[in-house]
Amino acid sequence: MGEVHLTFDNGPHPEVTPRVLDVLDAHAIHATFFVLGKHLATAEGMAMAEATRDRGHRLGNHSFSHEVPLGEDLGPAAVARELEGTQRLLDEVWRGPRWFRPFGGGGKLGPHLLSPDSVEWLVAGKHTCVLWNSVPGDWLDAEGWVERALADAARLEHAVIVLHDILPEAMTRLDEFICRLREAGHRFGDDFPAACLPIVEGAPRAGLEAFVRAAE
Ligand SMILES: [Zn+2]
Repeated sequence: MGEVHLTFDNGPHPEVTPRVLDVLDAHAIHATFFVLGKHLATAEGMAMAEATRDRGHRLGNHSFSHEVPLGEDLGPAAVARELEGTQRLLDEVWRGPRWFRPFGGGGKLGPHLLSPDSVEWLVAGKHTCVLWNSVPGDWLDAEGWVERALADAARLEHAVIVLHDILPEAMTRLDEFICRLREAGHRFGDDFPAACLPIVEGAPRAGLEAFVRAAE
């Protein structure tokens, strides 16, 4: 059975993130949290991001508003608002490698994820862009996501699973999910598979163009 890395997007959330952190602590698992700038813009959100970091997890930039994918919002204004606006806040709590995950709009992969301007910004800032290979749909189905995620983990050699620490109901099943991954023999690791990393510390990798909208 393969390796699994859990990622939690769109937080931090005042009630759900602390519960997710408790479950991860109980299993001694480290995950990556891709946070939204709009949630870091409050003292409460910033405190939760600090708690997430202090409990051994990674923090990454997942845009500010999470409204329009970067490949559908071409131009430098979106970079300033969505990426720089979030990074300024994130830099106050996170000094490690710069992780970034684009907003996919329902977890879809494709050229809508990034604009040429956003790629330029990620390269200049030496960011690592982290995509995914499992989107079990925890926001659509608070129960059934567990079975889909287990099936993905069984199928993949190295699963990068997208979950959301903003969903009170779906996240009540996180403990069960992790127990079942362990029972199935999966390992939890810190690495991401190369296929999920189109940019590594600012270096574009082969295949990046599949995730970038061509300039008009
Ligand atoms: Zn998201």
